[in-house]
Amino acid sequence: MKIPFNKPYFTGKEPFYVAQCAFTGELSGNGTYTQKCHDFFESRYGFQKALLTSSCTDALEMAALLSEVGPGDQVIMPSFTFVSTANAFALRGADIVFADIGEDIPNIDPDKLEALITEKTKALVVVHYAGLAVDMDRIMDIAGRHNLFVVEDAAHAIDSYYKERPLGSIGHVGTFSFHETKNIIAGEGGLLTVNDESLIERAEILWEKGTNRAAFSRGEVNKYEWVDLGSSYLPSDMTAAFLYSQLQHLGEIQEKRLHIWQKYHEELAETKNQGLIYYPDTPSYATQNGSMFYFLANSDKQRKKILEYLKKNGILAVFHYLPLHESKYFEGKHDGRDLPNTREYSSRIVRLPFYVELADTEIEVIGDRVRSIV
Ligand SMILES: *Cc1c(COP(=O)(O)O)cnc(C)c1O
Repeated sequence: MKIPFNKPYFTGKEPFYVAQCAFTGELSGNGTYTQKCHDFFESRYGFQKALLTSSCTDALEMAALLSEVGPGDQVIMPSFTFVSTANAFALRGADIVFADIGEDIPNIDPDKLEALITEKTKALVVVHYAGLAVDMDRIMDIAGRHNLFVVEDAAHAIDSYYKERPLGSIGHVGTFSFHETKNIIAGEGGLLTVNDESLIERAEILWEKGTNRAAFSRGEVNKYEWVDLGSSYLPSDMTAAFLYSQLQHLGEIQEKRLHIWQKYHEELAETKNQGLIYYPDTPSYATQNGSMFYFLANSDKQRKKILEYLKKNGILAVFHYLPLHESKYFEGKHDGRDLPNTREYSSRIVRLPFYVELADTEIEVIGDRVRSIV
């Protein structure tokens, strides 16, 4: 038996939609399928403005540009995240201040945030890890009192909610990923959500190479020209076509992924209650969205044993997020604070196989193997 870690899910309509772009000749960005995707996101989740990007990395770069941070400014974010979260702001010349995550939930810890804020702090980036919401009321309260720009890195968080509000709709901007490993895929792809009306016009300009071409294509101006900084953040309409077929099946993809999460939970809840492994309970303000299933082993040594044992049994489990504050690039840039929860999660996390076609019987086998090794 072989169980891979990930297996992209196809709805079946992707090649037809992509082929349609070839037949109609609508290949470049901001075409019919891009519009369909924007409309879908705006109507389903109430984002003020949705802009497809070529990746979540690109959406984060747009967020950094919109935040207007530069050299001398500080941006606070968790160390336990993907490198793109930090890179986007480091590219603007800002100083990254890494915060620890909570002990119970690997999201940035609001209790430890305020102590990190100085008058140089300009932005705050939160990551809804595994689609589980950060306590956004507390974040927005802190940000409001200190006049900070809030970015929600919602790469894992499609179709997940905070007190019934969609993630990605609460901060000034939000970013999503449609990378092949995420819930909804486009190969490479992403989304910027803009929730502050005053940022929308500039967001469209950054998106279209610093020009007002989006306004031009709506007939609002009679020529388009260079009006601001920008880059080519918009994806080709073929990427949007692929994504659109996934969006049409979002409901059933999510239903299946939530079922998988629930099934893992049934398999492992007792092992968790015995203290042999740990994973967070879902806070009352948050929802699961079936982005992944993970647990913490009791030590890094035990994690190694678990991963090896699973591999020997044909099950590919993985770990991730080497702490960014200890990374090679960041050497000499961190202020020396210990981030103990980041260290613990990074050295003990085990992520189990997670994809739509994963069968209940396979989850039962994985559950059995995990129980027997721990
Ligand atoms: C996947 C991921 C990204 C990057 O997404 P891409 O679409 O691959 O650029 C950024 N942040 C987090 C938290 C991620 O998991």
